[in-house]
Amino acid sequence: MTHEIAVIPGDGIGQEVTPAAVDVLEALDVDFAFVEGEAGDAVKAETGEALPQETREIAADADATLFGAAGETAADVILPLRQVVDSFANVRPAISYPGLDAVQPDTDLVFIRENTEGVYKGIESEITDGVTTCTRVITEDASEKIADFGFDYARQNDYDDVTIAHKANVMRETDGLFLDTAEAVGADRGADYDTALMDALAMHLVMHPEDYGVVICPNLAGDMLSDLAAGLVGGLGLLPSANVGEDNALFEPVHGSAPDIAGEGVANPAAMILSAAMLLDHLGYEDEGDRVRTAVEATLEDGPKTPDLGGSASTEAVTEAVVDRL
Ligand code: ATP
Ligand code: MG
Repeated sequence: MTHEIAVIPGDGIGQEVTPAAVDVLEALDVDFAFVEGEAGDAVKAETGEALPQETREIAADADATLFGAAGETAADVILPLRQVVDSFANVRPAISYPGLDAVQPDTDLVFIRENTEGVYKGIESEITDGVTTCTRVITEDASEKIADFGFDYARQNDYDDVTIAHKANVMRETDGLFLDTAEAVGADRGADYDTALMDALAMHLVMHPEDYGVVICPNLAGDMLSDLAAGLVGGLGLLPSANVGEDNALFEPVHGSAPDIAGEGVANPAAMILSAAMLLDHLGYEDEGDRVRTAVEATLEDGPKTPDLGGSASTEAVTEAVVDRL
């Protein structure tokens, strides 16, 4: 069976790391048909639209999407794209790899971030001069869905520790509902879990990341805590992510378009290739996903390495090394 994969490189290093991920997918024995779409600053300059209708349709029709990065227009591209694939869960693993200089070399965390509500509803207003408000939306349905997803993810990926992050002592209604709902999901399953106030959790994650596994979070908390964890494991060039919906999903590196190094051919392709590995898992090719992860890990450890990891290799040389190891 052929899987149709939408490929949207976007801007900056998105143009360099996305082809690297496609090369890796093509080296596997899986039947993919790639359909490329445009998005980001460059296409906006040309057509006036950062996310052309044609690209939306390519993503909507595909079995999954690989997205690189967008520059200035990032919010105009990725927020609607996440809606196109109807993603309710943002999955962000932060794992430290042997042979790299990480703040916390014993980190193996996965943030499961609610992807549809909270303050990201964008309901803000200026009441009067100097007074503004933001309405935070938390629903039982979305909270239950993300908790279900998080507990499933922990079971399927052999994580023993599940933590529900919240701030229900202050946001009694909204995070109160999030917490109660997520705890009820855990209790229904007879699953083990902990709950943690998100501020204290931030501190514990810095000091003892090894105590945590899957962390289920409301939207903004997931954004912030996963970036914090990115800092623990050694840099943006390493972190993949998935936006998962009921029938569709989009995979993208956590990093952006990195204009400071774009065009030089030295971007680290690991984050994007690891995003492709998550795509493989999602489509049921877990063995292939593992093969890709193993090849990336070996390359991170033994090289060649890109300059962000202290090496001098090009994106292409690293990609070739990963493909050779497959
Ligand atoms: P954007 O607005 O698109 O997010 P940015 O300036 O915030 O752009 P990021 O892509 O978020 O840039 O990257 C932040 C820093 O991390 C930059 O210095 C960038 O060079 C570096 N960086 C990000 N991704 C990679 C990568 N894949 N390889 C090497 N360095 C990277
Ligand atoms: Mg950025």
